[in-house]
Amino acid sequence: MSRFLSTVAKRTEPYVPGEQLNQPDIIKLNTNENPYPPSPKVLAAIQKALDDNSLQRYPSPTADPLRHAIADTYGLTKEQVFVGNGSDEVLAFSFMAFFEPGKTIKFPEISYSFYPVYSKIFNIPFEKVPLNEDFTLPMENFFQSDGGVILPNPNAPTSIYADLDVIEGILQQNRDQVVVIDEAYIDFAGPSAIKLIDRYDNLLVIQTTSKSRALAGLRVGFALGQPELIEGLTRIKDSFNSYTVDRLAMAGATAAFQDHAYFSESTKKIIRTRERCVQSLIEMGFDVVPSDANFLFAKPANLDALVLYEQLKERGILVRHFDQEGINNYLRITIGTDEQMEVLVEALKQLI
Ligand code: PMP
Repeated sequence: MSRFLSTVAKRTEPYVPGEQLNQPDIIKLNTNENPYPPSPKVLAAIQKALDDNSLQRYPSPTADPLRHAIADTYGLTKEQVFVGNGSDEVLAFSFMAFFEPGKTIKFPEISYSFYPVYSKIFNIPFEKVPLNEDFTLPMENFFQSDGGVILPNPNAPTSIYADLDVIEGILQQNRDQVVVIDEAYIDFAGPSAIKLIDRYDNLLVIQTTSKSRALAGLRVGFALGQPELIEGLTRIKDSFNSYTVDRLAMAGATAAFQDHAYFSESTKKIIRTRERCVQSLIEMGFDVVPSDANFLFAKPANLDALVLYEQLKERGILVRHFDQEGINNYLRITIGTDEQMEVLVEALKQLI
């Protein structure tokens, strides 16, 4: 570690990226990507952006075409939409714009690993709220906070979706703080909290094109909320980099929002595969958390999940292993294509 690092850099753990295996035929079920390619219209739009010969020009600083396409998709106005380089970046901007050093924010004890990381970087104290034994959110006032709330819905890595009345309860307990609902996996689950935006000026919904729209490689995430919250994010973003989303990403993501039929069909396909895979795992004796996401959180009966993870890896199947406080001996398995999940199930049958 360099002696020149600031206190913040020193206390920031080096990031360990999702595991990569360099075999061409690897079945990659470890980072919750979409197994299908994006809509052909996305590729055509990116090609057109290249043909326009305009890469020497900066992209639109206000990202208007993309914000319009997102606003139209969700029945909102452009002023209610903020876009950034992946939802991880949008989450970071949200920490800067709405959370205060000295005021404690809350998030679930088991949730997205970047929340504590951002809290430490931006010097925001945090408290982790314990989940119920079945990983559902507690209904009591446990999320009442001084500084704000952030939670994924569906939760990651548990895959559980909380109904909107639970989310509304949290919004009501925090009328004077921002509640960020990180909906990275919402398209595989029930209704989005977007419908609550009109009624709650403290609600920020964050989504991504990385999962249901199959664009993890383009890095486009977005936030939705009342215009004043969105304006707060824009201030922060502009002072970092007013051209956040590049021309090709902007063209591709805009086309993705304009091809609803493709999105809807591939999302339904993943949900159907998920349901079949849940059944197979249950039949093999796994304890599978009911999933509302594009991944499963499952515990093998009487077997060491780490050993299973290693044995799958030897067979070219990459999943995530979790063994930490509250989630011991779990595997997180991304839903791939039907064929990939059949290979996984057959491998598991031989291993257990
Ligand atoms: N939130 C949650 C809960 C996630 O699981 C992820 C993906 N790892 C993200 C946000 C970030 O997604 P992206 O930056 O690709 O939009």
